[in-house]
Amino acid sequence: MKFNTKVIHGGQQHEKATGAVMTPIFQTSTYAQSSPGAHKGFEYSRGANPTRSALENAFASIENGTRGFAFASGLSAIDAVLRLLKPGDEVVTGNDLYGGTYRMFTRLFQKYGLKFHFVDITKTENITNAISAKTKLVWLETPTNPLMNIADIEAITKAVKNKDAAILVAVDNTFATPYLQRPLDMGVDIVMHSATKYLGGHSDLVMGALIVKDENLAKELHFIQFAAGAIAGPMDAFLALRGIKTLHVRMQRHCENGRAVADFLNKHSKVEKVYYPGLEDHPNHEIASKQMDDYGGMVSFRLKNEKREAALRFLESTTIFTLAESLGGVESLSNHPITMTHASMPEEERLKIGITNSLIRLSVGLESVDDLIADLEQALEK
Ligand SMILES: *Cc1c(COP(=O)(O)O)cnc(C)c1O
Repeated sequence: MKFNTKVIHGGQQHEKATGAVMTPIFQTSTYAQSSPGAHKGFEYSRGANPTRSALENAFASIENGTRGFAFASGLSAIDAVLRLLKPGDEVVTGNDLYGGTYRMFTRLFQKYGLKFHFVDITKTENITNAISAKTKLVWLETPTNPLMNIADIEAITKAVKNKDAAILVAVDNTFATPYLQRPLDMGVDIVMHSATKYLGGHSDLVMGALIVKDENLAKELHFIQFAAGAIAGPMDAFLALRGIKTLHVRMQRHCENGRAVADFLNKHSKVEKVYYPGLEDHPNHEIASKQMDDYGGMVSFRLKNEKREAALRFLESTTIFTLAESLGGVESLSNHPITMTHASMPEEERLKIGITNSLIRLSVGLESVDDLIADLEQALEK
């Protein structure tokens, strides 16, 4: 099956009892047994639920994995991956991570004895240089949030496995989605998503996903999902499954609109710099073109006026772009990283990597691009 067919049919079966084309919402915690231990594959919904199973099969299909897992949030999916490790283990990761991931690494898992090395992952050697005999996991995010840096997934995975084949490589594929890049095909062990974003696609749920190919890793992650219990509920699983069915059509338009917005901002006299991997002057444009099929709908930019008030004026003036956390929904959103998504990052760290007062992140939605650009134009004039 090609991708556009997989998003609709991948891993799906019509419901057995009635032939329902859409997997129903199995809003049940438990399942009748005819004799102790004699059941129909479902015992208790923390272990498995038919609606969640249908979604997990869809996750596996669209990422070219063998097993998928649906969690209560993106962060609980990351939490499950870190539970594969033990005190003393080390993790090498990017210095430009989603704020919540950074917060989990530094404020939760550091105190349980994991050690994190934060490096610039646009240079593969920074990662290999940070690897020690204790390294058990390399955690990548590409494109990064909010600076849209790109890591060379294939080169990094090869270099890491060359050093030690047992080190796991995981990619947070939230920004790109499998419509644009498929990390498991590049040798990565674990793909993670905040399904809250593009996979769900309609800003109506919070959910996380993990997808793997390796059977043993799947067993370990299923055990963690079952034993720690941060599962996605059946209603949310239904909504995410419904969202995935239009992922390819939505992503195509997100990419078209994202490109148009990036080009518009790039020519605007009040804009200092645009961060969009599709622009030729983006420092990682070449790698992005190699590993991604298009460049997505996330666009960040900095105003020439670095005063905080200038960014606030812009963010308060848009009428179609809604100032809100999150991304990847049908509606366009704006975000001020330093006060919103990245408020938990120390100022010194932020400034070092370029998250300044005037940095604005846009999630370009599916509205008419003419209306979106007109909205940005009037807000930039304020
Ligand atoms: C939102 C997000 C997360 C966290 O996911 P939640 O569903 O909010 O828990 C992780 N990584 C990236 C890149 C995100 O955008």
